[in-house]
Amino acid sequence: MELSNNDKYIFNSLKKGYEGEVVVDKLFEKLECPSLHINGILFDWNNNTFQIDKLSFLHGQLFLMEVKSQEGDYYIDNGEWFSPNGNITANPLKQLDRTKTLLQKLLQYYRISIPIRANVIFPNPQFTLYNAPKDQPIIFPTQLDQFIKQLNKGNSEISKQHIQAAERLVSLSVEKSSRSRIPGYSLEMLAKGVRCSKCEDVFMKSINRHLKCPQCHGVELFDDAILRNVKEFVLLFPEEPITTIEIFKWCGKEIPIKAIRRVLNRNLIAHLSYKNRYYTLK
Ligand SMILES: [Zn+2]
Repeated sequence: MELSNNDKYIFNSLKKGYEGEVVVDKLFEKLECPSLHINGILFDWNNNTFQIDKLSFLHGQLFLMEVKSQEGDYYIDNGEWFSPNGNITANPLKQLDRTKTLLQKLLQYYRISIPIRANVIFPNPQFTLYNAPKDQPIIFPTQLDQFIKQLNKGNSEISKQHIQAAERLVSLSVEKSSRSRIPGYSLEMLAKGVRCSKCEDVFMKSINRHLKCPQCHGVELFDDAILRNVKEFVLLFPEEPITTIEIFKWCGKEIPIKAIRRVLNRNLIAHLSYKNRYYTLK
């Protein structure tokens, strides 16, 4: 069974989005000042549905952060955003504006008075934006450390009002996590094979000890491809045990089972169950 294009799109963006959010969460662990964070919150308010990747109470302000995990060379032309393949893509600044306005209205309605500072964060180091206008609320990968350093400056206090406001926002949310938007999928439903990390939907073919992408001709060593696919497997099916045969199938039977066994033995922790050998990540 094939995923619908829409589900495929949601699946890919969730996978990327999840990775981006992990990077941003790690980054925010470097904050030394008192702060309060709400991750992945979804509101359905006043006939509008809007999701916020990260809300942080800091320095008497409410930081609204949208995390965009795109990679590749994007560009702006005449105010429109274009993806690396030249297609018009949603302008994240417009999305940010909409979310900020809706959040502002919601706060006003509940008489929560706090200034909002909205930013779009691009954590993927492979992301570039040509013709990016200056003075836009965008944090590029190269600016992430500086952003945290700036936030660490000055005094920040979390007041009782901030805690109450955070509790109110959480109680108003419909879902506390974006993960619940994952479309229904099962191991059987998904197409098996090693996807090219650049071309996404193109499966690589094995040649000697490599995999090669028929579209961009990029190559990847078996070992790297196996580890990348194990992580993908764990992310999508956290409940499913990692076994040599499952990973062999997940990789579209394109990589010899011997290579998979060797890589799993070397890089993961092996456990013996009554049935067979399974692995967990170190
Ligand atoms: Zn490719």
